[in-house]
Amino acid sequence: MALAHNLGFPRIGRDRELKKALEAYWKGELDEAGLRAVGRGLRAAHWQVQKSAGIELLPVGDFAWYDQVLTHSLTFGVIPERFHKHGGKPTLDTLFAMARGVSNHSCCRGAHAQEMTKWFDSNYHYLVPEFTADQQFALSWEQLFEEVEEARVLGHNVKPVIIGPLTYLWLGKAKGAEFDRLDLLERLLPVYGEILQRLATQGIEWVQIDEPILALDLPQAWKNAFERAYNLLQKEPGKKLIATYFSGLDDNLGLAAALPVDGLHIDLVRAPEQFPAILDRLPAYKVLSLGVVNGRNVWRTDLEKALDVLQQAHERLGSRLWVAPSCSLLHSPVDLSREDQLDAELKSWLAFAVQKCQEVAVLARALREPQAAEVQAALAVSRAVQAGRAASPRIHKPQVQARLAAVTAQYSQRQSPFAERIAKQRALLKLPVFPTTTIGSFPQTSAIRLARQSFKSGKLSAAEYTEAMYSEIRHSVDVQEKLGLDVLVHGEAERNDMVEYFAEQLDGYAFTRFGWVQSYGSRCVKPAVIVGDLSRPKPMTVSWIEYAQRCTDKLMKGMLTGPVTMLMWSFPRDDISREQQARQLALAIRDEVVDLEAAGIKVIQIDEAAFREGLPLRRAGWQHYLDWATEAFRLTASGVRDETQIHTHMCYSEFNDVIESIAAMDADVITIETSRSDMELLRAFEAFDYPNEIGPGVYDIHSPRVPDSNEMAQLLRKAAQWVPAERLWVNPDCGLKTRAWPETEAALVNMVAAARQLRSELA
Ligand code: GLN
Ligand code: ZN
Repeated sequence: MALAHNLGFPRIGRDRELKKALEAYWKGELDEAGLRAVGRGLRAAHWQVQKSAGIELLPVGDFAWYDQVLTHSLTFGVIPERFHKHGGKPTLDTLFAMARGVSNHSCCRGAHAQEMTKWFDSNYHYLVPEFTADQQFALSWEQLFEEVEEARVLGHNVKPVIIGPLTYLWLGKAKGAEFDRLDLLERLLPVYGEILQRLATQGIEWVQIDEPILALDLPQAWKNAFERAYNLLQKEPGKKLIATYFSGLDDNLGLAAALPVDGLHIDLVRAPEQFPAILDRLPAYKVLSLGVVNGRNVWRTDLEKALDVLQQAHERLGSRLWVAPSCSLLHSPVDLSREDQLDAELKSWLAFAVQKCQEVAVLARALREPQAAEVQAALAVSRAVQAGRAASPRIHKPQVQARLAAVTAQYSQRQSPFAERIAKQRALLKLPVFPTTTIGSFPQTSAIRLARQSFKSGKLSAAEYTEAMYSEIRHSVDVQEKLGLDVLVHGEAERNDMVEYFAEQLDGYAFTRFGWVQSYGSRCVKPAVIVGDLSRPKPMTVSWIEYAQRCTDKLMKGMLTGPVTMLMWSFPRDDISREQQARQLALAIRDEVVDLEAAGIKVIQIDEAAFREGLPLRRAGWQHYLDWATEAFRLTASGVRDETQIHTHMCYSEFNDVIESIAAMDADVITIETSRSDMELLRAFEAFDYPNEIGPGVYDIHSPRVPDSNEMAQLLRKAAQWVPAERLWVNPDCGLKTRAWPETEAALVNMVAAARQLRSELA
């Protein structure tokens, strides 16, 4: 019988109970017993809700106090020395110290947190394991076994979920002396052996071992290591299901299919094309788990389409076929039934984690009892939803489509090449060399947040709110004038979030109340949902920027979020491509760019903070993505005269791979993060001659530390080795909204001084 199982369930709780409990614990308002009770309650509730939905084999080990990779580091004893406690075993506070760092107490024993980075191409962040050359591994954390026991007592049929040894090593970083972390495999495997043995004694039949790196381009040594590792683990007890997701197995398909384990899970949502090949390559003894329900999005599954694939597999595999979501449901919101303010039509189109479990269950049931009334009813609803979406005027807007169809190549081409534009811009803008600017936002004070809340709840009238924001704008303009900055910003006080602010004003977006997804630790995000064709009914920022410009004779920079970032930080549609959605967004934001220009704004920044994270996991997909992403940016930016200066901003520093596409975006100025890497990033500019102007961030806004002006001047001198001085701008690494005013002003005073210093050296 085809089995319905789940790879992982969100841990935060449908009301973000875990977030609230963690934050209370960190503040000292909840004790450890209280925190543990919340965790236990959530696990019990999550198993129950999955079981009630019809999931037959429940995941255990998907719960984490902060992050599942961090839990594994504790489990394996991969605890950097700075967190070692005298003698004792690691505790919950060790775990939180590794996640969040510990500040300097009475003396100097501060320990910085482990580094955090994105989990594959998702918006979830994990804590990067730190390995040393002499790394030892020892079973050091009992959480998994305790949770298995907890589930057993509750009478559940569970499947522990662990991250596989190769993925775990891949995700980590070698610290100290250089070495190959693959060399650690032989030392790590015995701990996996121990875990599998312990689980067997607990009566566990199946263990899910996540090896998502099988869906990446792997070096040959890592491919070979897979065979070695699993040949060894084969001897350990328990049936093993290797889970892969987020991309196709492609060149690793043969390897994955042949590993000496009992089952394989593949993601058929992201990579449907691997389906026929896997059927041919799978050994006759193995279970195949097909991920047919999208774990990364919020849309209801087209059950008939999924069933069609499952039926083909079922004919070949019979009970060796399992049905699952594409990946862990960690990446989808918890429970749609919690949404009390969504209109019925939209709600009928969506599915969150609980509903996705129901979909998996009904699909598995449809294979066994195709005629069951429940199955027939679910299929009928699904059919109606698909038909409704396909025909809905809420989704399909002829005007948007007609406009897109009329777009010619010229739309994404500035009128003249950069060399001509910059000459005109210099004549008009009359900026000094080493012009100074900031990235857009100024401190989001509690007064600003309060004003926004009061406006939303009706306590503040529109006029009062506008005046409150105007006063914030005046304040930030005053400060910038006093500091002597050259290109000013309005400060973004009116924006809660750089994507949501625009999404709320575009036609085609929808918003949930409880669609939270864990981002890291206790932090959650609630992405807006792209429902239909996108357009801009009216100007979104013009009145704020105009007001700001009226407050000063200096140049005021317009501030927008670009199409790729809008798309990456939203839940996209699943009925048209990402590329098409980016083009719609591009046209909508282009209208704003043109309106800003018409309002007299001469410098306009279009942020593309998420440009790089849209890169597909597999290199083979890169060029296509870079082409359309670049094109979408150009489409946004190219409606203006040569004299109007277009800036873009990207706040990270891995550019080497994509520098040519960044250049192809053809922004007149790009500001990027560089201070933390000591300008080393600009070395990429040795090999590739970036043609336009560039503002390498001269100080790190992530820290309250105020660097002195010599430090910043030194960074600028270094930058000038790689980029001609006349093309350099002076700015911080990113926006200042998370900082407080005193440190912001102190840092900017020094930044302006550094720019003046460099100007004098040039003279
Ligand atoms: N303009 C935005 C700001 O200054 C940019 C934020 C970002 O790049 N993440 O806050
Ligand atoms: Zn940034």
